[in-house]
Amino acid sequence: MKEELAKLIDLQKSDTKIRQLKQAIETASERRASLEQEFEQHASSIREIQKRRDDLTAERAANENQIAENKTYLERADRNLKHSQNQKEYETAMREIDALNKQVTALETKVVELLGSIEEVEKELETRAEEINTLDAKRSEAMAAFDLEVAGNQADLENESAKRKVVFDTLPSQLASVYDRLAQRSRDGIAVAEVVNGSCTACNMSLRPQMNVEVKKSDKIITCENCSRILYIASREAEATAS
Ligand SMILES: [Zn+2]
Repeated sequence: MKEELAKLIDLQKSDTKIRQLKQAIETASERRASLEQEFEQHASSIREIQKRRDDLTAERAANENQIAENKTYLERADRNLKHSQNQKEYETAMREIDALNKQVTALETKVVELLGSIEEVEKELETRAEEINTLDAKRSEAMAAFDLEVAGNQADLENESAKRKVVFDTLPSQLASVYDRLAQRSRDGIAVAEVVNGSCTACNMSLRPQMNVEVKKSDKIITCENCSRILYIASREAEATAS
């Protein structure tokens, strides 16, 4: 019976591992997408800052063009002033010069403001330069590592399934069907539960002392009185509690 119990324990370990691997494989594309999204959020926050810098730079250029344009108008207005023939022409030119000067002053103030903002954005980009420069490489690296892990899961699943088949096929058919029935019945797929500190680890019920002794002996299949799972005590603990 000890040998059969050992097989049941092996079977359970295989099935638990298979279950975890299947779950990892089933959720892989979802997890991959969220990993990708994390990187994308990063990249888009960087693009946002770069766009802000580009927008500010474009605005500065537009303002400077406007200043240059106003200065040519000013030259023309200056000529008009010099060549004014009467009081009316003189006043018109003066008003124009005055208005243009005000516009130029406002535009220059705006340019100074823009230069300050551009400097701030440039500084932010500079502090994040390392992050910006390595983001693409880090993304590819992380995605490759993830794909490798999933491929590893696939390979492990195949190995574990083959291992499980060998164990299952050598189990007496009656025990095999008991195992299957218990495993299918429980939501977590646990048919064989370890006893730790005198309690069934599947349902947390404390075992009666007599049962604990019988499980320890492991000369027959003992099931939990509460959840019906097959019980065992790992040899390490059996040794520790027996002494
Ligand atoms: Zn139990």
